[in-house]
Parts: sequence; structure tokens; C-alpha cells
Amino acid sequence: MQTKPEETGRDREQQVPKDGGSVLGSLKKCVFVLGSALLCLVAARNTITWHVQGLWKASDSFWQHQWGLVYDLFGEDEHLLGTLGTLLVPSLVFWLVNGFLLVVDMTGQPAALLRYKIQEEKNVPVDPVKLWKTVKLVLFNQFIVTGLVIFLTAPTLFHWRGMPCGRELPWFHWVLVELIVFVLVEEVMFYYSHRLLHQPAMYKRIHKKHHEWTAPIGIVAVYAHPVEHILSNVLPVAAGPILMGSHVATVWLWFCLALTTTSISHSGYHFPLLPSPEAHDFHHAKFNQCYGVMGVLDRLHGTDEQFRRNKAYERHIMLLGLTPLSWSVPDKPKVSKETLSCRKMSCHESSCHQTSCQSPGVLTCGQAEDKNGKTN
Ligand SMILES: [Zn+2]
Ligand SMILES: [Zn+2]
Repeated sequence: MQTKPEETGRDREQQVPKDGGSVLGSLKKCVFVLGSALLCLVAARNTITWHVQGLWKASDSFWQHQWGLVYDLFGEDEHLLGTLGTLLVPSLVFWLVNGFLLVVDMTGQPAALLRYKIQEEKNVPVDPVKLWKTVKLVLFNQFIVTGLVIFLTAPTLFHWRGMPCGRELPWFHWVLVELIVFVLVEEVMFYYSHRLLHQPAMYKRIHKKHHEWTAPIGIVAVYAHPVEHILSNVLPVAAGPILMGSHVATVWLWFCLALTTTSISHSGYHFPLLPSPEAHDFHHAKFNQCYGVMGVLDRLHGTDEQFRRNKAYERHIMLLGLTPLSWSVPDKPKVSKETLSCRKMSCHESSCHQTSCQSPGVLTCGQAEDKNGKTN
């Protein structure tokens, strides 16, 4: 009776379409999804517009009132709003989000959240010496480096873009359009600057610092050499608002969103109802995969091939239930030393020589591991 041969790493590799095919496949899927969404939107346009406008009118005066309070708090000083406000407000949100993550990392409480860890055995608990070193550089980057960038460039930028920091908030629809532009600009600028930082000379001198954490935690999002912080953190996020001449309230909203999502990407936890952090966590674990934010350019350039062959790719979705994805999509079990010695014994028993068991020949005897020594 013939048995089905074991699937090897090479077989799995062949199941993944080559770059050209996968790009075409992705584009087809993208067109299908966007086309279907567009059709639904066109069909329900009047109803949606009516509801959104109703909702916005109701909340419009609320947000306008809140913004008026902030505007007054800064003494109606629009330069101060654009500089000090832009420095402090996103930083405050960053530390609120990361304050919570740090409590979980340092205390392991609430224990129920630990089940959502991506690299299970890492940072439990986090090393306090490494953590303090990280906190110091994060604060330096946030308040000294970013502060210098903001205060030194503000006069030129305000002169060029006309200081859009007024009491009137922009239109809700316009804010949405701007956010889409910001996301696209960030994806392009972050992907290519990040790849540049992985060039050997740049990696050794600059980017290696960020990769000291192979299993990152939230604040590692801003743990980087100051040059990297300006090139790859500040510029890609600031370029969109500069390009669009955005209102300072939109800029704060965008910076808060960007800092929150990058903290989630570095958190090391795949929590329910939050964007998936699997791709960037994989980048920290493997170094040469998943350079982008959304993954579009990684797909186009084929820099996610190893990721797409990994179980992490199956988990790269928004978790909609409470069961951790590491439970529903578990990794393949690792081979323990006992199993290996057991295999050597069975190999020996089936009249192989012990020496051949210690060589790669044992893998052929067991017929259970691929060339890289990974178990199927
Ligand atoms: Zn990172
Ligand atoms: Zn990197």
C-alpha cells in the first residue's frame, strides 16, 4: 500500500506562487474587494450619507466645542498649538497606551491577557535593565529629537503652509480624505526608508539599535537611533500633513493614530479587535521580512515570502473572538531532545549505524524533517 509522502519545506515553497503571480492574485483580490465595496456604497449611498451627516451634525458641535476649549487653553496662540501641542498631545496618548502595556509586561497582570502573547516565552517578565535603557532613549527621541525637529522646522512650515491652526475645525469628510492620503504616504516612505536602513552599512551603524528587541514590546516603536527616528519615524508620518497643509487638529489625530498603531505592532500581543501585529513582530524575529506598515509594498517586492509560508501569516488577521490565534492556529510542534534521541534509537534498531544517526542521515531515516532541520 502506498503512503502519501511527507510534505517537505521545498514542497511548501512550490505551493506559494512566484512573485509575479502573487502580485497579480493580490491585485485581482484587491479589485474584487474594492469593486464589491464600491458597488455596495453606490447602492446605499443616499442612506449612508444621510446617516453619516446626521451623526456628524450631532457630534460636530461637540467636537467644535472641545477644540474651542483646547484653543483657549493655549491662549489662542496658534504657534504654540502647532509646536508645543503637536509635541505633547501625541506623546501623552503614546504613554497612555504604553502605560497599560507596560503594566502587563512588568507584572504579568491581568494574567488572562498573557494568552495573547505572540512569542510566548519572551519578556515574561520583561528585563528591567533593558526596559529602563529603552525608556531613556524613547524619552530622548520623543522630547529632544522630535522637539528640535518641530521647533526648528515650524517657522518655515507655517510660513509655507499658512499656519492652519485656527479655531474652526475642518470638514469631517475632508479629514477622512486626508487620513487616506497620510496612510498611503506613510506606507511608501516607511517601506523604502526601512529597507534603506537594512542596507549593511546603515544597519550596523543605525538600525541595529531598534532590532535589539527580537521580541518587541510597545515602547520599542520609538526605540531607535535618533537618525532613524527622524528618517523612518517622524518623516513618513509628517510628510502627509505637510503635503496637504492639514489643520493642526487633524495632525494631532493622525499622529495619535500612527503612534497607537505602531505601539500595537510592537506590543508582542495579538489582542482581539485590534489591528494584527503579526507582520512587524515577524520582522523583529526574522529581520529580512515584512518591512512595510500595511504589507502592500512587501507583497509587490516579494519581501514577505517567508512570512506567507509561516503560520504567523495565517494568524495575520483581526481577531474577532476571545480565543487566541496562537491556540486556533498553533505552530508546528518543536522536536524535543528526547524525541530526537528516540529517533536515533529507532534508527539504530532498524540496523542503521549510530554514526549515520548523528549525521544528516538521521533525517532520512526518520523521514520527518526537512533540509533545514525543521520538523514537518
Ligand atoms: Zn520595529
Ligand atoms: Zn527593521
